[in-house]
Amino acid sequence: MYGTTAKVLRVNLSTSVLDVETLEEDFYRLYPGGKALAGYILLNETPAHTEPFAPENVLVLANGLLTGAPVSTATRYVVSARSPLTNGYGESEAGGFWGPELKMAGFEAIIITGRAPQPVYLWVKDGQAEIRPAAHLWGRDTADAQEAIRTELGDGKIRVLQIGIAGENLVRYAGITNELRHFNGRNGMGAVMGSKNLRAIAVRGSQRYQTLAYAPEILMALGRKLAKGVRDNPLSWDLQQRGTLGIVEPLNTGGILPTRNFRQGAFESVDDVKWEAYEKQLLTARRSCYACAIRCKREVAIEGHISPYGGPEYETVGAFGPNCGINDLQAIAKANELCNAYMLDSISTGATISFAMECFEHGLIGLDDTDGLELRFGNAEAMVCMVEHIARRQGFGNLLAEGSLRAAEKIGGDAKFFTMQVKGQELAMHEPRGKYNVGMGYAISEIGADHLVVTHDPTLANPDSLAFKNARPLGITVAQPPRSLSDEKMKQFYILERWNSLEKVIGYCFFGPAPRSFIHPDDVLTSINAATGWNITMEEALLIGERATNMARVFNMREGFSRKDDTLPDRFFQGLENGPLKGNAIPRAEFERALTVLYCLKGWEPETGRPTRERLEALSLGWAAELMETQ
Ligand code: SF4
Repeated sequence: MYGTTAKVLRVNLSTSVLDVETLEEDFYRLYPGGKALAGYILLNETPAHTEPFAPENVLVLANGLLTGAPVSTATRYVVSARSPLTNGYGESEAGGFWGPELKMAGFEAIIITGRAPQPVYLWVKDGQAEIRPAAHLWGRDTADAQEAIRTELGDGKIRVLQIGIAGENLVRYAGITNELRHFNGRNGMGAVMGSKNLRAIAVRGSQRYQTLAYAPEILMALGRKLAKGVRDNPLSWDLQQRGTLGIVEPLNTGGILPTRNFRQGAFESVDDVKWEAYEKQLLTARRSCYACAIRCKREVAIEGHISPYGGPEYETVGAFGPNCGINDLQAIAKANELCNAYMLDSISTGATISFAMECFEHGLIGLDDTDGLELRFGNAEAMVCMVEHIARRQGFGNLLAEGSLRAAEKIGGDAKFFTMQVKGQELAMHEPRGKYNVGMGYAISEIGADHLVVTHDPTLANPDSLAFKNARPLGITVAQPPRSLSDEKMKQFYILERWNSLEKVIGYCFFGPAPRSFIHPDDVLTSINAATGWNITMEEALLIGERATNMARVFNMREGFSRKDDTLPDRFFQGLENGPLKGNAIPRAEFERALTVLYCLKGWEPETGRPTRERLEALSLGWAAELMETQ
């Protein structure tokens, strides 16, 4: 088989037994890495109703098929387990360098089960692996721990994936970092790793992807072409020039910059937090993930020192900035640094603090609850302080470490109204009242509110744009307004969801393939076929994406999720308070109707959201139907 190492490392931390398994080609063509491989393993190996922090919760780290290929943005790996934040299917992806290094070390995936009696880390090198003690790493900042591991193993080029103290303390939205600057932030995967007493996975490999590929010369030529093509597409070029911060001002101008816990869509101090201010006040360098020509990552200086943790991206600036009513870029960068030193998901952390600020302003909590902190919108000092308290589970931080939904249940009163979450996971910084497909993605996603389910609506609103033209090979032929929930819009959603899911399977970054960015769909297929020799079509590619989504859905059905969980917070069915979209609300009845249309397109029962046996069999998932019915 080409394009893959075909090896999976299995680690039982309870027994310290390590094993290597081989993947067969027929299997791998159905589940070619990332979200699909992880979903298959999770569904088959996690007993129904497993407690997220129990040793039986299976933790999977899975590379995409193309992860490590010499092609821009093919950098991603997925981490999956039952989520302690949502109690459903958990998943979080990251780029950086760790995934490619794992492939070069000879493995597609690592499956972790059990719980080590003492803190440990895993050391993987060129097909070999060992479990090593990590008590000396426990409680240390991520930068310290990374340095200690590299020193101990005598190699400064080792790629280190790890949790921080937030994961050790089982903060329900603790994440995982690699190389200190790339994050599996969402869904609490770091807390699951912490519950297993696993602090880190260090990896070193000497293989090259080209030696795995069916047609390495085609892959290399494509890589060279793409490296030159970044500047030819306005979307990828803007990512290189301004990073993800480039969207702050356009979102504000459009009235869809989440502000003060999504009450408002325009921030009066946007000039203080937009790209130009960031470039002037914080920026020291541009950085990248493995072999990526876009280079959207940023390095910054905070209080006079260059942060080892990279600079805040748009989501983080949005979450700690406008959504907390804060315009102090230094404070935002400090909060970002703390999140990364302790390894918290910056989206859920910022959104949970923002939720607490609204509770404070409505008198649901007071100074006695918040450790004396005036937790009001705009109070940057209190915000930074609360990040520290959450990671350490100190005082009020201990409650917020449970996530906004669980915290609201404890606070009582109207607190739940102020939680901006779906299935327990907080929304990313994209306002659904101005992007209805993003809203539908938040509602329907198996992992709770996720902004990476589909390409965002404005990208495909203009029929003359390059983005729209590049979407044609996917079957998207009619441009749609951002605030439409028409049947045609749901068809667009269905196609984009399958396509974006494919990206999570094969290892492309959200900012790589068209229509969001510059890699034409035909080139995506070329890269898969050059790697594998499979000669797959667009239809097969979309089926791979849809299969992965359906496994995640079956996992959730088994855990008792249903249509009632595919919704949005009530706030989004009410009007925005300010900005160009002032008064605009998502029409609830229309949203419910569109959800039914979407279920029917996906072959899911309209009343329950449950995949039909017929559709599962069409996706070669008849075994999953059996699994769902026998539980
Ligand atoms: S576009 Fe940015 S996040 Fe994506 S792979 Fe490239 S550098 Fe990494």
